[in-house]
Amino acid sequence: LNPAPRYKRVLLKISGEALMGNREYGLDPDMVAQIARDVGAVRALGIDVCLVVGGGNIFRGVSVAAAGMERASADYMGMLATVINALALQNALEQIQVDTRVQTAIPMDTVAEPYIRRRAERHMEKGRVVIFAAGTGNPYFTTDTAAALRASEMGCDVLLKGTKVDGVYDADPEKNPDAKRYERLGYMRVLTDDLGVMDHAAISLARENQIPILVFSIYRPGAFAEVLSGNGCYTLVK
Ligand code: UDP
Repeated sequence: LNPAPRYKRVLLKISGEALMGNREYGLDPDMVAQIARDVGAVRALGIDVCLVVGGGNIFRGVSVAAAGMERASADYMGMLATVINALALQNALEQIQVDTRVQTAIPMDTVAEPYIRRRAERHMEKGRVVIFAAGTGNPYFTTDTAAALRASEMGCDVLLKGTKVDGVYDADPEKNPDAKRYERLGYMRVLTDDLGVMDHAAISLARENQIPILVFSIYRPGAFAEVLSGNGCYTLVK
């Protein structure tokens, strides 16, 4: 039996890569459905859940800018990619009867609600899962930073970063069988050793607002609910 969940309100950052499953590009419907079930399971525990979605499975501004496109334009395209992912997740959640709202940092009223903090708060009080799309709405930022920002604004107890691996390791666990997973890390250590949990802006923001970052594997079904109860594998940055 799982102990009672430790958190009342959480933000889960889902990278575009996670939504891609084993594909090279775009969305894997099975993976999207799996993540939706995991979100639904956490919601069913009575935990408030909000999500920030990435866009790297469709478009990543920095790499396109490196190929010659103006960075700001490329970043706006990247933010639009996150909206596509948000709508896919919303659909998958609705199919399993999880009430959701999408709010976008770039207003596009016919597609989704604009981001309004108080309104998002109200949705969460009503038990809806709020999906935050379009990052921060500004170029030169990432959805990791958007996740730290929204987690701060929504008063979340923890920011979860769902990745391919089940935490932060001292070496690449896919290449090095002796790689060790950290159970706990300090924000400063992550910054100074450049441990690649999230970008520095995101880590700094989480640190300033004292929001722990929990890194776990979103690929393993059921892991989201499990790590929130303190079980399973993860790394906690705090
Ligand atoms: N992006 C941006 N501002 C933001 C968030 C995202 O300009 O606040 C753009 C940026 O080009 C980025 C893309 O959107 O490359 C997709 O987001 P990200 O790379 O963070 O997605 P993930 O790596 O999580 O899939």
